[in-house]
Amino acid sequence: MALIREIVGIGAAEFYSDNPMVPDGPAEEVLEAARRRALREPLQYITGRAEFMGMVFRVGPGVLVPRPETELLVEEFCRLFPDRQSSPYVADICAGSGCIALAIASRYPRARITATDASAIALGYALDNASRLGIGNVNFIEGSLLDPLIGEVFDVIVSNPPYIPEGEIDSLMPEVSSFEPREALDGGKDGLDFYRLLIDGAGAHLKPGGLIILELGAGQREEIEAMASEAGFAINGVIKDVSGHERVVVIGS
Ligand code: GLN
Repeated sequence: MALIREIVGIGAAEFYSDNPMVPDGPAEEVLEAARRRALREPLQYITGRAEFMGMVFRVGPGVLVPRPETELLVEEFCRLFPDRQSSPYVADICAGSGCIALAIASRYPRARITATDASAIALGYALDNASRLGIGNVNFIEGSLLDPLIGEVFDVIVSNPPYIPEGEIDSLMPEVSSFEPREALDGGKDGLDFYRLLIDGAGAHLKPGGLIILELGAGQREEIEAMASEAGFAINGVIKDVSGHERVVVIGS
């Protein structure tokens, strides 16, 4: 239903009314979309849009669809920085569609945000999203993790890195395993490869008192906590998602 409504381009109230005014042009388009959906292509790839923090992002093959859990990360950021006129310097690592960086940037017009992603395709979407949303305070850079940020020190590093153990990807639903980019999902053997690199490297890129806010996979909190303490940090906040999984952690010194 959502698919048809998106394509026909009418609102929910009209769609569910007794006598909806449905234009007759899009019938072929609806059929084609239904065929793609039947093959389990994600709805958001078919419509080309995903909602995140009340904003619309353009997505498609080659970029991860923003997830509702990831909103918890942005909400935690907002809780930690109640002054929307503050101007933190923020890094978003593995930016994908740019959803985290752009959601923060739109809420903190004076923040400066640098966002990195190793995928040129993902960055293409991120840049397009920034311009469609009219957001100018995010600088997107192609490169792996913190590599392109030599000499930069931030108030906050945020990241939702790939965190699925490589052996588990094929057992995920086909919308994910067959359609979303593997490099946006695959966190190596135990799913923790990116956290290792990120937490080890973060010290050199954080101001004193700086914070790291990370999204985690289910059940990864304990190992992340060990990594953090080994690197001289501590977890000082854990946020659970609606299913009760520890989903977001705040790491500080
Ligand atoms: N940061 C992006 C998101 O949360 C992309 C994450 C990724 O590619 N693993 O959607």
